[in-house]
Amino acid sequence: MGSSSVDIPTARGDVVSSADLGPTLMHEHVFLCDHEVNISWPDTLGDMDGHVAAAVEQLNALAATGVRTITDVTAIGHGRDIARVARVAREVDLNILVATGIYVLTELPTYFRLFGPGSFIEAPEAMTDYFVRDIEEGIGSTGVRASILKVATGHAGLTNDVLRCLRSVAAAHRRTGVPITTHTSIPQNGRDQQRILAEEGVDLSRVVIGHVDSTADGDLGYVEELLEKGSYVGFDSFSLPLVDLDTKVDLMAKLIARGHGDKIVVSHDHACHVDFMPAEYQGDFYRKTYFADVVGPMLLEAGVTESGLRALTVDNPRAVFETTARGAY
Ligand SMILES: [Zn+2]
Repeated sequence: MGSSSVDIPTARGDVVSSADLGPTLMHEHVFLCDHEVNISWPDTLGDMDGHVAAAVEQLNALAATGVRTITDVTAIGHGRDIARVARVAREVDLNILVATGIYVLTELPTYFRLFGPGSFIEAPEAMTDYFVRDIEEGIGSTGVRASILKVATGHAGLTNDVLRCLRSVAAAHRRTGVPITTHTSIPQNGRDQQRILAEEGVDLSRVVIGHVDSTADGDLGYVEELLEKGSYVGFDSFSLPLVDLDTKVDLMAKLIARGHGDKIVVSHDHACHVDFMPAEYQGDFYRKTYFADVVGPMLLEAGVTESGLRALTVDNPRAVFETTARGAY
């Protein structure tokens, strides 16, 4: 691989060498909640001890398929609560890496919205120092450090607040060297993210443009356009049935046959517990073992080799964390 290993912090509070990440799912969630709603109306949260126990059970089932690491990309805006994740991490036999960033598709949380570049009161960007603190010192009082930066763009495109997030994440990346992973809702989001991040001095090979399995809808040209600029692409929403599975698998097999198998990472975008998606919308695809049970075998049937599959789950996640990283962890 030509790069040297780095120690990556985990939600247990220790570190794992990038050489030991093993099979890794790059875009997962443990808990997706809305704290403000949960505090006001506790029935929206239910039994958190039960949710923790269920998460432990689901992640141990995932570990039994051979997966060794998940990246929990839950950011502010999706109920990030690292103390809860740490409780789970201590009881499961896999590494949970956590993220920093703010999940915003239109407007920032009020705390950041009114003050900042282009905002009601023009002020320097305040978010960047918080992201850097999460990476260098730890999140809240947990002592757990973030190992990846998360940023989102959606149907509304580059609103002022989305732009602030992209620029702030770029600045935190420049200061720390940790990789960036993104949420996209439509193809334009991936193009916009690459353009803004590049403008802000980010080496696009340190970026995973997420959810292309859903946004590309089989469009090879779109994904190759992103790959040409050097980024990784995430086929990382297999638990979101926005595009049918055959289309996703077919596109992956084509990309791998065309030599892009070293630039693709995989995941489900599944949460062990989510309080805003009713169970009746969670079909068979909504589970942590869906890739191992269903998608992986389909890829093999579509002509992807065992070593091709290993690249997606082992070699590529490792490279995302260690390529040109400055050892900031
Ligand atoms: Zn997600």
